[in-house]
Amino acid sequence: MIQGMGFYLRLLLVSTIFVTVLAPSPKPVFTTLWHAGNFRYLDAESGQLLTDVGNLAHPAQGGYGRLSSTRTDKFNLLLNALFQAISDSLVDGNTGDWCDVKVKAANAGYDLIRYYDTDSGRWFVHGRDRTSFGQSYFYINPFAKRNLVIEVPHEPYDSGTAVQGARIFKDLAARALIINKEDRCSDPDTATQCNPGSSSACADGRIRESDVAHNTDNTFHLLHVRFSDMDAGTKFIQLHGFRADPGRQNAVVGDSSTNDVSSASISNLFVSYLRGQIWSPSSVSSCQESAGDPNPAFCGQSNAQGRYTNDGAACTFTSTSSGRFLYVEQAPSLRDNDDSDGMWWKDVSDALKLTWNNIYMNNGATDDTLGARQTQYGTLSCPTQTTTMSVKVTFYSFPDNDDGFGNFGTNVIADHLVWQGQARPTNSQGDPIASGTGTFGNPITVAAAQGNSLLPSGTLVYVTGLKKYLLVEDSCGNCTSTWIDVWMESNAGNDPTAVSQCENNWTRDPKDIQINPPSGLAVDTTPFFDTIRNQCNPVTW
Ligand SMILES: [Zn+2]
Repeated sequence: MIQGMGFYLRLLLVSTIFVTVLAPSPKPVFTTLWHAGNFRYLDAESGQLLTDVGNLAHPAQGGYGRLSSTRTDKFNLLLNALFQAISDSLVDGNTGDWCDVKVKAANAGYDLIRYYDTDSGRWFVHGRDRTSFGQSYFYINPFAKRNLVIEVPHEPYDSGTAVQGARIFKDLAARALIINKEDRCSDPDTATQCNPGSSSACADGRIRESDVAHNTDNTFHLLHVRFSDMDAGTKFIQLHGFRADPGRQNAVVGDSSTNDVSSASISNLFVSYLRGQIWSPSSVSSCQESAGDPNPAFCGQSNAQGRYTNDGAACTFTSTSSGRFLYVEQAPSLRDNDDSDGMWWKDVSDALKLTWNNIYMNNGATDDTLGARQTQYGTLSCPTQTTTMSVKVTFYSFPDNDDGFGNFGTNVIADHLVWQGQARPTNSQGDPIASGTGTFGNPITVAAAQGNSLLPSGTLVYVTGLKKYLLVEDSCGNCTSTWIDVWMESNAGNDPTAVSQCENNWTRDPKDIQINPPSGLAVDTTPFFDTIRNQCNPVTW
C-alpha cells in the first residue's frame, strides 16, 4: 500500500515536470542595448546639447562650397550605412557595422560621433562637416519616440532657431535635428540652380548657394530627402525667424504650397493649436486659411525641402500639399525660452504634439520622453581595415640613396620608428637606417611620396607578388601617390652598377599591394641583391 502510494506520487511529479517543460514561456531576451555594443565603435563626445548647439559655428567668410556629384554619392553611401547600423543596433546592440559607418563618414568628409547629452543622459549620433565647405550639422536620435524631423536652415540669420530646434528635439524625443553650418549669405556665388528668386536676406538681394533652404546641392537637403523617402510617416517642421516689426504677426505658418485657401491644410491645423497655446491668438496666421497674404508674407512657397516632400520636385512651385511639412516663421519672442510675454518655444512644441498626435515610433511608444538615462560606455577601437591598391614598384639602394642633404652613398632614411614594440635600427650617429628581411616582425624599409594619405609613415605594406612585408619609413621625392620605392639590401662595398642593374631587373608597374595587411601571410626572405657575392638574385615576379 505504502509502496504503491510512493509509486503514484513519483509518477505525478514526473508528469508535472514534463508539463512544465512543454508549457509556453516568454522568449528570453539576451540582446545588448543599442548604445552598449557596436555603437561604441564611434568616437564619443559629451556635453550639454542646448549649450553645444548654441555654440555651433556659422561662418560667413565666403568659404561655402556646394556638393560635387562625387561627394553627393559619398554622403548618400554614408546615410545608407548609418541608417542600416541604427536599425541593426536597435534589434541587437551587438550588431550594426559602425566601423563601416566611420569609413563611409571619412569618405564623405564628415566627422561622425556618439554625442552624450549630460542633461538628459542620452546618446545621439552627431555629424559635422570636416571640410572647409561648410555643409550642415546633424543630430539623430536612434531611439526616437516621434517620427518628426526638425530643420533649422538659417542660423544665425534667424537667430535662436538652432537652440529652439534643440529644445523641441529633446522635448518631443524627435528623430533628427538638422542645422545649416555656413550663414545663408556666406557664398558670394549667386549662380543658384534651384531657385533664381530674390531675397532681401543678403546684400545684393539674390539667393546664394549657401542658402540651404532654397538649394538642393547640400547635405541639409540630402538628409531631408532621405528622411522624406525612407518613411512616408515622417513629418517635418522647418524653423525660421523674422524681426518683430510693428504690425507684424508673431507667427506665420505655411505648408509650402502655393495655395492661398485650403481648409484641410496642415498649416491651418497647426495654427489652430498654436493659438490655443499663446496669449495673443490673433497674432498667429496660417498662409492657407484665407485669401490674401499674412504680414510678413513668408509662406515657404520657394522652400526646396517643403516642395520636395509635397510633390517630389524641389525647384518648382507646387499647389500640392503632402500634409507632412510645416514652414514656421516666428518673431523672437516665440523662439526664446521666456514665457513671461505669453509665448515661447514650448508653445510651438506643444502645438506640434497636438497636430501630429499619432506619429510614435519604436515599439509603439506613446510618450515623448527621451527615456531613462543611459550609461556612458567607453569607446571601442575598430579593427584595422586591410585595403589593396595597385602601384608602381621601384627600388633604391646604398649607392643611389641620399641622406636628405644631397649626400649620396648612405643607408640613412627619414623616420625612426618603433615597430611591434621594437625600435628600428640606427647607425652609430643615431640616424635611422634602412633595414628588414620582409617578415611581419622585421619588414623591409620602403619609401612613399610625402603627404601620401594612403601610405603615411608607419604604414605596413605587403607586396603579394614578392611575399614580403614592407614598412613605410622613408620618403621618396619622385614618387606619385601610386608609387612605392623599396629598399634593396646593399652597402658601401657593393658595385653601384650591379646594384643599379638589379634595381631595374626587379622594377614592375603596376603591382598589387595590401595596406595594413594581417600578420601570418606567406613570406620569402631571400634578399633582392646578394651583398656578399655582389650580384642580383633571380627575379621571381
Ligand atoms: Zn529663414
